[in-house]
Amino acid sequence: MQYVSTRGQAPALSFEDAMLTGLARDGGLYVPRAVPQMAPDDIAALAGLSYEEAAFRVMRPFIGDSFADAEFAAIIERAYAGFAHSVRAPLVQLGANHFLLELFHGPTLAFKDFAMQLIGQLFQAALARRGRRVTIVGATSGDTGSAAIEAFRGLDNVDVFILFPEGRVSEVQRRQMTTPTEANVHALALAGDFDDCQARLKDMFNDFAFRDEVGLAGVNSINWARVLAQVVYYFTAAVSLGAPQRAVNFTVPTGNFGDIYAGTIARRMGLPIDRLVIATNQNDILHRALASGVYETRGVTPSISPSMDIQVSSNFERALFDAYGRDGAAVAQLMDELRDSGRFAISQGALEYLRELYATGRASEDETRATIRATHAATGETLCPHSAVAVKVAQENLGATPMITLATAHPAKFPDAVEAATGARPPLPAHMADLFARPERMTPVANDLGALETLIRERRRS
Ligand SMILES: *Cc1c(COP(=O)(O)O)cnc(C)c1O
Repeated sequence: MQYVSTRGQAPALSFEDAMLTGLARDGGLYVPRAVPQMAPDDIAALAGLSYEEAAFRVMRPFIGDSFADAEFAAIIERAYAGFAHSVRAPLVQLGANHFLLELFHGPTLAFKDFAMQLIGQLFQAALARRGRRVTIVGATSGDTGSAAIEAFRGLDNVDVFILFPEGRVSEVQRRQMTTPTEANVHALALAGDFDDCQARLKDMFNDFAFRDEVGLAGVNSINWARVLAQVVYYFTAAVSLGAPQRAVNFTVPTGNFGDIYAGTIARRMGLPIDRLVIATNQNDILHRALASGVYETRGVTPSISPSMDIQVSSNFERALFDAYGRDGAAVAQLMDELRDSGRFAISQGALEYLRELYATGRASEDETRATIRATHAATGETLCPHSAVAVKVAQENLGATPMITLATAHPAKFPDAVEAATGARPPLPAHMADLFARPERMTPVANDLGALETLIRERRRS
């Protein structure tokens, strides 16, 4: 099993090397050279398995010989042991033919835990075997950072630095990043927005001297292993509703395109998904791009669904690679255009490919609040604002095929927005009830590559 870069110039790598590398050295993202197939009988056989057993069967073909079967199975067991729900990703019904996939029962209350808990275990196993240390640097719009800190805190061979946009994450999100006491975790409040955090992270990866000096590793959704972990719940949800005999649709609240790209992989493996619906908030670059054929960045407008406040949607590059017939040179040219002019036009052929695969929709702030309120009144289910964006867009796409909407965070992570919509403040689960009493620890940092690199050099334990 080999992984190739979307820009065609970096060396092909094994699963383990692609995971430890993160961003390819040509600036591209790693994707499998060929997507393994699951036959209808293999999909049907997932019915009734535990989440962990299904995860093993879905992910195993992507791992190659990087991990032995027994080791990989044990890693999966450990990864999901800390979830608060025994089925890990339960489905609840919202309406006729409309189902909600609750992905927020992990330790930091967002779907990021599915991937981060797994790669925490995978990194630990791979680094111990190699006797290596790494410096993990991540950019977060809120949920990736807390999930990464939770997954890597206290590990001997890892230092973790998380860049978050100062003042643009919810208080619960911030406190989840700033209250862990382990010496190997560092929350950095960057003076800028999430796209700035992501851009500085990419700059660090492209500074090869620094990258090699500190053993830089990335756990953002550019990391293939994270995408892979997310493929699993598309299978378990679809099989619960009758796949492979019956096709399903998914609506996914989308920011960096990692989650919905995992759905794209599930479909290419053979899962009968008719439509993947991209739901965006008012930062709707993906909705505009598929409607107009022009991918054009505008400023980020802060919203009540901050984890989707983004203009440069990194994993969209993976979809473009497929849409351009896996032509790395063509993708590299588009990304150069984007860097230089803030926009690029999608070719007619690529646009047709993307429109065949994805529908899109957006929700305004008022529509998001109205959806939280209406869903609560109709079903008793309290949605977080991200999930509400998706429910609103899903409702515009309901039909004969069952729709599964992904609920990506627990409402208690965004209590102000939820209370404003429903009048009731969603309580934190018992295991983090004292979050507001714990002391915080964070370092303000300028939106400047040199300043960041100096800080990381000083703080990391060598
Ligand atoms: C990260 C996140 C998203 C967006 O997911 P992508 O994979 O970046 O598209 C949506 N909702 C929540 C709650 C998130 O944390």
